[in-house]
Amino acid sequence: MSNPTLELSGIVKGYNAGRENEVQVLRQIDLSVGEGEVVALVAPSGAGKSTLLHIAGLLDTADTGVVKIAGQDMTGLSDRKRTAIRREDVGFIYQFHHLLPEFTALENIVLPQLANGVVRALAAERAQDLLTRVGVAHRADHRPAALSGGEQQRVAFCRALANTPRLLLADEPTGNLDPGTSDQVFGALMELVRGTGLSAVIATHNLELAARMDRQLRLQDGALVAL
Ligand code: ADP
Repeated sequence: MSNPTLELSGIVKGYNAGRENEVQVLRQIDLSVGEGEVVALVAPSGAGKSTLLHIAGLLDTADTGVVKIAGQDMTGLSDRKRTAIRREDVGFIYQFHHLLPEFTALENIVLPQLANGVVRALAAERAQDLLTRVGVAHRADHRPAALSGGEQQRVAFCRALANTPRLLLADEPTGNLDPGTSDQVFGALMELVRGTGLSAVIATHNLELAARMDRQLRLQDGALVAL
């Protein structure tokens, strides 16, 4: 058996420790996401889902607890090493696309690959392939402002996968779109994830979208419970 792609054990996280406005956001998070598994994270606003995703993706650190990616314990690694692992192994998608406005769709997917040492021709080939998979290859040379909201998110999905991560973390990836578009764009995301065998944790408010994933967890009172 291979290691789980992501393992969180005993994660605790609070803010403003010792002060009047102290909040304990995560009290006891235990989660194991297997290779190719797609987990839905359902939580009301303010429940701590962004905090959880940031800790899992090494953008933030827990007060206590262990994060393992592909079996490797992230505790005590230098910032440099954490940044390298994040860049190579983790892809992020947010509710807003965060594409660079002065670059085309294709260039937005090429740039992270160049930063990772891939040569331009190969990076462009991969970017074009990813855009084809999500149905926006014909928009490759357009800047984000010339794309619809759904197209912008599809490009953001490709950018998140540009460096072939093991783990995808998505925070309300279709939360900004109208319901019809959201459904289609979510379908494109799931095809992309399934087609690459990626593991994913995808936060959503939408129970219908959550039902299309392998497992549904609710973040409640700082812990995860099965839906
Ligand atoms: P969600 O993504 O589920 O909406 P967050 O993880 O963003 O929730 O936030 C969870 C709780 O932690 C909220 O009550 C929020 O106000 C609080 N919080 C988040 N970040 C900080 C911070 N840097 N300092 C203080 N409180 C924070």
